[in-house]
Amino acid sequence: VFPAEQARVFRANDVKVRDSGRPQEFVEMASQDGVTHTYSSLKFPVLNGGSPYAVGGVSLDVTEQKQAEASLRRSEARYHALFAQADDAIFLMEDGRLTDCNARALEMLGRRREEILGNTLLAFSPPRQANGRDSAESAAEKIQAAYGDVPQRFEWLYSRADGTPFQVEVSLAAMDLENRRSLQAIVRDITERKRLEDALRNIAAGVSAATGETFFQQLVLHLGKLFDAKYAFIGLLDETGRNQINTLAVSQDGAIADNISYRLDDTPCANVLGQGPCAYPEHVRQLFPKDVLLQQMGGESYIGTPLFDAAGKPIGLIVVLDTRPMADTRQVEPILEIFAARASAEAQRIRAEAHIRQMAYQDYLTGLANRALLHERLAEQLALGRVSSRFGAMLLIDLDHFKTINDALSHDVGDEVLRGVARRLGEAAGADILLARLGGDEFAALVPTDFDNREDAARKARTVAERVLQALSSPLAVGEGVLNVGASIGAVVLPEDGESELDILRHAEIALYHAKSMGRGNVQFFLPGLQAMAETRLQLEEGLRRAIAHQELVLHFQPQIDAAGRMVGAEALLRWNHPERGAVSPVEFVPVAEESGLIHPLGTWVLEQACGRLAAWLREGVPFTGHLSINVSPWQFAREDFVQQVTRVLDRCGLPAGRLMLELTESALLYDLEGTVQKLHALRALGLGVALDDFGTGYSSLAYLKDLPLDVLKIDQAFVRELDRGTDHPLVETMIAIGRHMRLGVIAEGVETAVQHDTLVKLGCENFQGYLFAKPLPEADLLKWLADRRP
Ligand code: C2E
Ligand code: MG
Ligand code: MG
Repeated sequence: VFPAEQARVFRANDVKVRDSGRPQEFVEMASQDGVTHTYSSLKFPVLNGGSPYAVGGVSLDVTEQKQAEASLRRSEARYHALFAQADDAIFLMEDGRLTDCNARALEMLGRRREEILGNTLLAFSPPRQANGRDSAESAAEKIQAAYGDVPQRFEWLYSRADGTPFQVEVSLAAMDLENRRSLQAIVRDITERKRLEDALRNIAAGVSAATGETFFQQLVLHLGKLFDAKYAFIGLLDETGRNQINTLAVSQDGAIADNISYRLDDTPCANVLGQGPCAYPEHVRQLFPKDVLLQQMGGESYIGTPLFDAAGKPIGLIVVLDTRPMADTRQVEPILEIFAARASAEAQRIRAEAHIRQMAYQDYLTGLANRALLHERLAEQLALGRVSSRFGAMLLIDLDHFKTINDALSHDVGDEVLRGVARRLGEAAGADILLARLGGDEFAALVPTDFDNREDAARKARTVAERVLQALSSPLAVGEGVLNVGASIGAVVLPEDGESELDILRHAEIALYHAKSMGRGNVQFFLPGLQAMAETRLQLEEGLRRAIAHQELVLHFQPQIDAAGRMVGAEALLRWNHPERGAVSPVEFVPVAEESGLIHPLGTWVLEQACGRLAAWLREGVPFTGHLSINVSPWQFAREDFVQQVTRVLDRCGLPAGRLMLELTESALLYDLEGTVQKLHALRALGLGVALDDFGTGYSSLAYLKDLPLDVLKIDQAFVRELDRGTDHPLVETMIAIGRHMRLGVIAEGVETAVQHDTLVKLGCENFQGYLFAKPLPEADLLKWLADRRP
């Protein structure tokens, strides 16, 4: 029996075999070359004349065979375990009849083994399939194909014992079992998967048509229903950089609830945004004890997935939250992810849209409304006012000197000023008032048509205007410096008869021009007669532009006198001989020049003209004693090259610097104190004198005065005028004391009466300027005045 080449013949010495006289079989193990071999041996007695005398043997190495057997046994055991414990139902069939099935199969069909075996699988199918086809016919096709060695995979309907159909996926394949052709069917219950697929399809269909808020609401409603969870919500990260989620839609108990905002600290949502999808099937409340909202909602299970923008940055999240544990979060997760992608796209679309809308209606610089939005609202309010017979108002707010700030101090400073002003306007105007920037330095405030009569609307407008002026009256911190920005306001009560929003704006503008011409810090309401005045102002600006070239400007000179009556100098005062209007006061045109930026060529002209005249007089032996003062606008002084400009003119005219005095106002010195101090030092080092003009009318005189290198304080004529009244003059007294204490010269301007003069002398004032001594004189008159005084 043994194949000869594998057999080994040997002699043995086995007493049992010898004595029994019968051959015996053995399985023996022996170690050979360190490897254990299994041998199957036959030992037999060797007979010598009928009596055994020895034992012989034949043995075969069966190691491999043994191993194969063992592995087959193991694999059978394993297969059996798989078969028995598989999650899918497995049926074996021969000739169409079921011969075996596993436990899952019994469970799936809801029947006992005896009910199944011997039957065909068709016995457990409803007569027709989901696609409407006859079950028997379809099954026959599939079985035939599988027998033809083409494995089949298809969806199928079976029915449970109670007759309810359920959906399965079947894999059908033929195989040879114990030399017989059999079929194996692996059947998977896909009811749950189908439910999810249907749900997905439902959600997709339900939300696909929707956009914006409806989209998000549909989505959370569906998600809440699908997972039978108390809450589902979608939220976006706060765009202002706060660590906060603002929801777009919340579903609670199957209905849309109010949106909420919550901080992300110590919440599961923070993990979702930081790490990606997170699932807490239970105990989520205990895991995040500091999440107040979670505690309030009674969250037990939580699953969340992030929304991403196009760049892959998290922008928000979708959350399903329940008060019970969640059975299978694995199913929820992929669905959430699918909808997160869709929701992300929608959120981004909405953000982009909002952005565009914002850009169209918002002033980029200040964040206030822009002109377009103001127009729209104004038109609305006009229409509303007309139908409801109610009244509102519009204010047009224009900053003083803004163009000059921009030109002299760079656009960055200008931008910062505008932002600062916008902030203050926001604080001053109430919440019901729409603030807009119309461009440049022009702002508007719209008072809604909420008032029963014009008077109340006008009163409200005035209150708002005054609050605005008040808010803008204190210096604005800009960068390193501080800046005074006043404003003028034009107001219109609306609606007017049949006027459009453009008329309203034009009328407000006319009122504004009027306000400006009345001096700074003014509110004026539109009256039909104002129109003419506004035009004058525009003409003024146009005219001024040409005035320099056309030699319409001229300097007058007003002498300055000391207590002993000696001349100590003169002030150059600018005059404009307008071709039609005659002499125009600098009070009227200097603000226009500052506003329009014309102050720079104008100031240069004054500087050159004053120095040129004085140098000429000195050359010609005119008995002009002391200094010539010129007025310098803050905007001129603010220019970086101001000192160089002065030096250049002095050099060109050959005028000793000591003969020139500059008159500056507090507002000129307030901005950029450090730069001011440097410039003043430089000017004084050259030999120029510096006077502080209009002393006493500014804001914080004493606080900064001590830091400024000055020569002269010029007491404003407003205080001098006061001296005619009463006997007590603490203000002027203090000013003179300050001057003396700081070793500065003091001059009083606008001295008109002997009483004023006497009082000033008594109080210790040294120098005087005013009509009492001389009016501002044209050059010829000045020369005459000087000649007449000659002893
Ligand atoms: P200011 O520098 O304070 O000039 C004094 C003003 O008081 C001058 O008015 C002068 O004519 C006036 N005045 C002088 N004495 C008397 C008096 O006894 N009684 C009265 N009631 N007024 C008197 P003016 O010339 O109309 O100039 C007004 C302002 O215009 C000046 O005030 C100054 O701030 C500005 N200004 C004048 N010339 C220039 C200039 O060349 N450049 C610049 N930037 N501003 C100038
Ligand atoms: Mg002056
Ligand atoms: Mg003055």
